[in-house]
Amino acid sequence: MPQYKIALIPGDGIGEEVCVEAVKVLKAVEKKYGHSFELKHGLIGGAAWDVHKSHFPDETKSLCDWSDAVLFGSVGGPVAEQDTEKWINCERESILAIRKYLGLTVNLRPAQVFPELAHLSVLKAEKVPENGLEILMFRELSQGLYFGEHTTYEKDGQKHARDICDYSADTIRFIAEFAFRAAKQSGKKIASVDKANVLDTSRLWREVVDEVAKNYPEVSYEHWLVDNCAQQLVKNPDWFEYILTENLFGDILSDLTSTFPGSLGLLASASFNQEGFGLYEPSGGSAPKRANQNIINPIAQILCVAMMLRHSFGMEDEAIAIEKAVHQTIKDGYRTYDLYRELEGETKVGTDQMGDLIAERV
Ligand code: NAD
Repeated sequence: MPQYKIALIPGDGIGEEVCVEAVKVLKAVEKKYGHSFELKHGLIGGAAWDVHKSHFPDETKSLCDWSDAVLFGSVGGPVAEQDTEKWINCERESILAIRKYLGLTVNLRPAQVFPELAHLSVLKAEKVPENGLEILMFRELSQGLYFGEHTTYEKDGQKHARDICDYSADTIRFIAEFAFRAAKQSGKKIASVDKANVLDTSRLWREVVDEVAKNYPEVSYEHWLVDNCAQQLVKNPDWFEYILTENLFGDILSDLTSTFPGSLGLLASASFNQEGFGLYEPSGGSAPKRANQNIINPIAQILCVAMMLRHSFGMEDEAIAIEKAVHQTIKDGYRTYDLYRELEGETKVGTDQMGDLIAERV
């Protein structure tokens, strides 16, 4: 039986407790489907600082090298302690450092509105279809405006600033292939987002996406200008299934779609390098004020497990089993504090109970 090696790196704050629930659900999958997952625990962020005086120690790097996938929690300390030795530069030296270490270039961010939780969404209820809404963003992470040359200089007696946006055809091709492969498997349609009426990088983006699309005649796709896409995401969110876009547009649009589900506790994400190696982490932070009270929502971390099974281990049925179990638990009325509104049929539960309920349903 093949063994799947997972680096479990919970980090700080709520990271440890939501990872406990994610592992519970993983164990339920292991039992039901007869897989064998080998988990090894690693330290990062403030938790690593306490032991190693480093936010991303060599031991954790070796653990990543050993693993087939990384299941990550979140890092960071309380706002009031940000200037202390333990927390200063923590995020840069841990989450940004691990992303760099692994060479992650593609980011996937699902934003799902469960129909039973549509009242929590910033979207008007009538914008959410009866069976809910799910938009998956494919964002390029390694090039574009954030990685070009940044200069501030004097000219004509005043200050100027310049940021260079550069994209290579290979980089665009890699993420486009990634999205089209996924769309071929799922039957979803792709909105490729750019600003091709103005930018050369966007014209190249379109050209390469069109080339890639030729190899996927069964996948339906359209080009969208980013300004129109932002507007239609709010007006007609159900027009979108997969969004494929470059770094800056993806940063902004994924923050927009992250407001749709109604709680950070529902938002998973995944990032991949050129070899397809994946790191899976919830979109939220370490929420230190809510840590260790058994109140936080573990669903984002549990949905990270589903993404890991699907994308790193090719276990589609197992991923669907987790997603269905999450949805059924919500349908059955169970809510952690962030989802609970004292409505009829709702039962407030703690972190561990939410994990148990989902694991049972798997
Ligand atoms: P946060 O995401 O931790 O919390 C924002 C709000 O969302 C809080 O009210 C919190 O209680 C809520 N929330 C977050 N996750 C939740 C969950 N699973 N269930 C229910 N509610 C949840 O953001 P913050 O408070 O601005 O930052 C706290 C720390 O996290 C800081 O040190 C920050 O630097 C760090 N941070 C880390 C990451 C990361 O590890 N990728 C991302 C963002 C922030």
